[in-house]
Formats: sequence, structure tokens, C-alpha cells
Amino acid sequence: MHAMVLTKLKSPLQWMDLPKPIPGKGQLLLKVHCCGICRTDLHVIDGELPHSMLPIIPGHQIVGTVVEKGADTHSLLGRRVGVPWLGGACGHCLYCLDGRENLCDAPIYTGYHTNGGFAEFCVANENFCFSIPDHYPDEQAAPLLCAGLIGYRALRFTEYGQNLGLYGFGAAAHIVTQAACHQGRSVYAFTWPGDIETQNFAKSLGAIWEGSSDDLPPNKLDAAIIFAPSGNLVPKALKAASKGSIVVCAGIHMSDIPSFPYSLLWEERVLRSVANLTRRDGEEFLELAPRIPIKTSVTTYPLYKANEALDDLRHGRFQGAAVITI
Ligand SMILES: [Zn+2]
Ligand SMILES: [Zn+2]
Repeated sequence: MHAMVLTKLKSPLQWMDLPKPIPGKGQLLLKVHCCGICRTDLHVIDGELPHSMLPIIPGHQIVGTVVEKGADTHSLLGRRVGVPWLGGACGHCLYCLDGRENLCDAPIYTGYHTNGGFAEFCVANENFCFSIPDHYPDEQAAPLLCAGLIGYRALRFTEYGQNLGLYGFGAAAHIVTQAACHQGRSVYAFTWPGDIETQNFAKSLGAIWEGSSDDLPPNKLDAAIIFAPSGNLVPKALKAASKGSIVVCAGIHMSDIPSFPYSLLWEERVLRSVANLTRRDGEEFLELAPRIPIKTSVTTYPLYKANEALDDLRHGRFQGAAVITI
């Protein structure tokens, strides 16, 4: 099978011919239709996450069809499934036992610990695959699997804050905006200074205010989610936030947070991160998405152009999400 493989950190993926993987016990072999790209793929490639396994096929927003089954699996051949970042959890650590498998002590992350979806085929643990809502085309569904799921988990932590700020308006924010508007909340979109194109995109999705991350919005924020991997945004978001508000850092990696005066955190402002996802998040969100309905804005690239797609993500050259089609 053809695959785009990370063989060396901080270098482009390599186009390779590899044997088709064989599904083991509890695993499905999927013919990959498409795979979304995610900021996390860049962190993997750039060596910003610990314990990298090389070589690895990245990609953790996989939509594919079951074409072969390992022992002890129950899916029908031909079933369309989605594979998210959480590709497995131990099931017996303290976190797994109390329903926080997103914090599992021995997790398996797709496209990081096991080969992901930048390939014609991949294997996946059946118990961590999701069903894809019926009427979503493959490319539209792929970004729901990480940008959507993690965004939704972050949104849940903001509870019912009416004025919601989103810092970094990429794949996740464009989905979260639709979910938040559906909940009747007011979305404030913060972009790079001068990025009018992204600000217009945010407006088209329902944001009521768009501006630069250096700006203060006209109203205090009741909650904010930071999707961009820049620690500089933390004090900025706290400054824009009201008493008792929450600021959620939704990325897996962030540059250092500069020191800031305690007064920015005072009055019960909460600063927290969001890590990974649970299967419950996935099931809830994939049930909710078609009811809103969330429409993803997608730019597609063929598999052999995965490096171009990643470079475009790094430089913000598309709106919404990008998806590799196989
Ligand atoms: Zn565990
Ligand atoms: Zn991701």
C-alpha cells in the first residue's frame, strides 16, 4: 500500500510502499477513504511531543471502510467507521476506571503510537472506532473526529458562558462556532492581527464579533477557548475574561506561557487544559453534529501532497479544515 511516513523528526513525510497491515485480535482493517490533518500532526512531526515512535504513519481523523476483521471483532464488512486520536486505553488504570480514559496511564494514540490514516489502509481497535453519521460525506466527516471532538470537549468545559471567545480560528474553532451558536451563545473570534479573510470566515459561521488576539472585545468574555498553540494568548484571554470565567487551553502543545500578574487570575477565573477525548465525547458529539447540523469547510489534498497540506496548515493557508483523500 502507499503511505506517507514520518521517518525522521522535523523532516517531510516520505512516500513509501509498505505491506498492507494485518488486523490482530480486536482490530479491524480499514480501507482509508480520507484522513483529516490536525495541528497535532505538526507537533508529532516537529518532535514537540515526548516518546515519538519512528517510523510512523501520522493521521488520526480517519474515515474508512471495514475490509477485513481480526479475531473477536463484530463489525460487518463494509461498515463505515471513524478512527480518532484515542486509539486505545488500558481499561484498568485509575483514570480508565472512573471514566476519564482521556487521561489513561497507558494510552494508544493513533498516528503517534500506532500507524494512522495517511495511507491506503490502516488497522484500528474496533472498540475505539466510531460510527459516522449517515449523510456526512467522508471528507466532511473527517474533521469531526479530532477538531470536532476536542473542540466539543473544550466547549463542554466552558459550561454556559454566554460570551465565548475563540482564540485561533482553524478547524476546531470553525466547528465549535457552529455548536456554540446552536446553543444560543455569542461567539467572539480572535485571529492573527489583520487576518481579515479568517475574520470574515468566522462571521459567515455566526460569530458576532471578530478581531485580533491583541484586541479587547466590546464585552467581557464569560469563557474562552485557546486553540492556537501560543502561550502568549493565555494572559490575553484572561485579560478579556470576566470574573468567574474559564479559559480553556485546547491544544496538546503550547509555547511557554509568559508570566502575568495574579490580578488576571484573581476573582475566580479558571485556567485549565483539555486533553484528548473519551469515547463518550465521541458518541455524544457525533450524535449532535448532524442535528445542528455542523457543516465542515474542507480543503482536500491527495495523499502524495500530504506535505503540502501540512505546510499549508502551518501557515494558515486555508479556512476550516484540510483532509487528505486516498
Ligand atoms: Zn488506562
Ligand atoms: Zn488532532
